[in-house]
Amino acid sequence: MPGNISYLIIGNGIAGVTAAELLRNEDSAADITVIADDPFPVYYRPALKDYLAGRVREDKLWARPNSFYQDHRIRFLSDRVLGIQAGQHTVQVQSGREVTYDRLLLANGARASRLNCPGTDLVGVTTLRTVADYQAVVSHLGTSRRIVVSGSGTLALETIETLRHRGYQVTHLLRKRTFWSEVLDATASDLVLQQERRDGVDVRLEEEIAELMGKNGEVSVCRWIALCAQALRIYMQRVISSKRQIQ
Ligand SMILES: Cc1cc2nc3c(=O)[nH]c(=O)nc-3n(C[C@H](O)[C@H](O)[C@H](O)COP(=O)(O)OP(=O)(O)OC[C@H]3O[C@@H](n4cnc5c(N)ncnc54)[C@H](O)[C@@H]3O)c2cc1C
Repeated sequence: MPGNISYLIIGNGIAGVTAAELLRNEDSAADITVIADDPFPVYYRPALKDYLAGRVREDKLWARPNSFYQDHRIRFLSDRVLGIQAGQHTVQVQSGREVTYDRLLLANGARASRLNCPGTDLVGVTTLRTVADYQAVVSHLGTSRRIVVSGSGTLALETIETLRHRGYQVTHLLRKRTFWSEVLDATASDLVLQQERRDGVDVRLEEEIAELMGKNGEVSVCRWIALCAQALRIYMQRVISSKRQIQ
């Protein structure tokens, strides 16, 4: 490969970092930049579930040593990409600057969908995707009794199991009648549902969070409403609720 090519990688997940590592092995002269809107160094996302369960310590989440970026001469920019001008070989980032590149790799992965209701900015309401999300959940567990989880995939189920094992009362809201509908048929979904209920989880089908209310900036009430089945929107939302209203 010719030297002095500038590679720009959007995403500091396992895909982006592995690409940067391989590029450095192939091209010792390349200028490599990784941009991500998550300030943490690369971590094992699947291990976050074990971190919540208390099986993995925070220092074991990191997928590369501290010196990784420096050792591999990889520039890391903590910023959010807002736009790509492929014709000009530039990307615009939130801080206002433009970053130029010769070659661009998109390794921007996925995002958790967010609830679209009042109160999502209250302390104690979070999605489950990043280290910061999990740190927020872990830091609130000590003051929580009841947790509302919204979502119908394996992450929701595994999280609920963990929380239940840790002694929390959990309410599980599903927007549809079934779990993980891309994979499970109605019979399989029903078996999971029965098991969750046997385990003491308060499962509510075809319900959606309508509003989150709080005291002193912290969530204290979760109000939800019955839904007719609509297109599936997968998200993971945790709230702590001391009181609830059902309409
Ligand atoms: C809690 C949890 C548990 C999981 N458990 C498993 C499991 O057990 N087994 C399994 O196979 N998979 C699991 N997954 C899924 C797995 O983690 C993903 O498939 C994997 O993280 C994908 O890696 P990635 O590098 O492609 O993208 P991601 O890890 O999503 O990384 C994307 C990167 O792009 C950055 N980014 C995105 N948009 C922008 C932007 N506009 N500007 C700047 N940066 C941006 C992000 O900050 C991030 O650094 C789990 C996921 C989660 C959240």
